[in-house]
Amino acid sequence: MSDRIIIIGGGIIGLLSGRELLRRGHEVTLLDAGDLRGSASTGNAGVISPGHPPIPTPAAAAQAFKLLLNRRSPLYIPPRPSLPLLRWLLEFRRACRPDHFQMVSAVLDRFSKRSRELFDPLVAEVPGALDACGFSEVVRSEDGRQHLREEHERLERFGFNVELKDGDTWRAGDAGWDGGILEALVHHEGIVARPDDLVLHLADRFTAEGGTLRTGSPVSRVDRRGDRAESVCLETGERVEGDIVLIAAGIWSSALGRDLGLRVPMQAAKGYHLMMEMAEPPQAAALLSEACVVVNPMGTQVRLAGTLELSGINTRMVRRRLDMLPQAARTYLPGLSAASPRSEWNGLRPCTADGLPVIGPIPGLANAFMATGHAMMGVTLGPGTAELIADCIDGRALPEWAQPMTVARYA
Ligand SMILES: Cc1cc2nc3c(=O)[nH]c(=O)nc-3n(C[C@H](O)[C@H](O)[C@H](O)COP(=O)(O)OP(=O)(O)OC[C@H]3O[C@@H](n4cnc5c(N)ncnc54)[C@H](O)[C@@H]3O)c2cc1C
Repeated sequence: MSDRIIIIGGGIIGLLSGRELLRRGHEVTLLDAGDLRGSASTGNAGVISPGHPPIPTPAAAAQAFKLLLNRRSPLYIPPRPSLPLLRWLLEFRRACRPDHFQMVSAVLDRFSKRSRELFDPLVAEVPGALDACGFSEVVRSEDGRQHLREEHERLERFGFNVELKDGDTWRAGDAGWDGGILEALVHHEGIVARPDDLVLHLADRFTAEGGTLRTGSPVSRVDRRGDRAESVCLETGERVEGDIVLIAAGIWSSALGRDLGLRVPMQAAKGYHLMMEMAEPPQAAALLSEACVVVNPMGTQVRLAGTLELSGINTRMVRRRLDMLPQAARTYLPGLSAASPRSEWNGLRPCTADGLPVIGPIPGLANAFMATGHAMMGVTLGPGTAELIADCIDGRALPEWAQPMTVARYA
């Protein structure tokens, strides 16, 4: 049966879900507050990395609280009195337990595997924005080498196609990388994206395939009557009606959920990117492990992306944190010293404390759904999320393995 579906949010999750729902014969209207530029979905590092671990890990428990208070660490929480933040941190700490980590990793590994399969047709559709060339994590220290070996073992155990290479072999033919790189973990299934182009492409295809895309349409609330989301109200006062509402508005999903009696506690994890013009940019994209910075070459420029700052929902640019990106990356990529900054950006990752996305029907409502909370993996898990949420909208329950991601855990 064809339903009229309203999606709130035109980031990667809303757009991929919109296309999937169109493909299944629904009528889809997508409302976005902005112009689809500038969201986390466009400014991110652009790495599709199946098997990426969640943010809460046993190692994070040991390091996080020390790191979080250090203004120069990639993880940072500016001190502020906030009860929701305190609650979130306590839950995050619980989520770092080894048994919880094992459970979350198992879900995300399976989910990212399925999502990677679903990327294949997209890579063929938009080769300029997606390149299935693989992706590497590189290290400069002995501790880093140890971490890579553990990651290699974990990923192999889950059946990912990964390979350890010594630094010289990995660097061969890509002269820009520093000789101090000791080792690389190559993720052969990785895809490197140009996220801005990808989002614009998805928006073009969404409208070409019959979807209605309304940018500049901020939703102020979702109105509820009984067990139904009745309509979506825009800031202009206009009401948009449909049979089904899907909230896919990244970090802003929590506020929209509250209108429907749902409390999804998420923190915005701000990240930055800096575009640098380089005389000889590297060819390979890589995560610089000790620096926690991703280098993604885009033509004559490279995108340096990283840092994770829990400073609330705002886009304040903290220069010191932005400057940390080239400072930390220079030791791996010496050519950055002579590179010129071209543009800068920050955006917000929607993060749950338990490290899992939030996907499925909103409890107590017959026609409202949510898909958010993807933290550092929104692009990686995008196609899988679109498939799962479309299944839910078509009346299927979340499969057993995906149950830990259910929205109902917050009911
Ligand atoms: C620095 C950085 C690097 C990252 N690197 C990677 C990476 O390499 N790989 C990866 O997989 N992920 C990465 N991520 C994470 C990824 O970007 C996010 O998980 C993902 O973009 C979230 O997508 P989304 O669609 O849920 O939300 P968003 O991209 O935030 O989109 C939400 C949309 O909702 C709209 N909206 C909000 N409120 C309303 C409203 N009231 N009415 C209408 N519209 C509204 C906004 O305008 C926006 O367009 C990174 C993130 C950052 C910040």
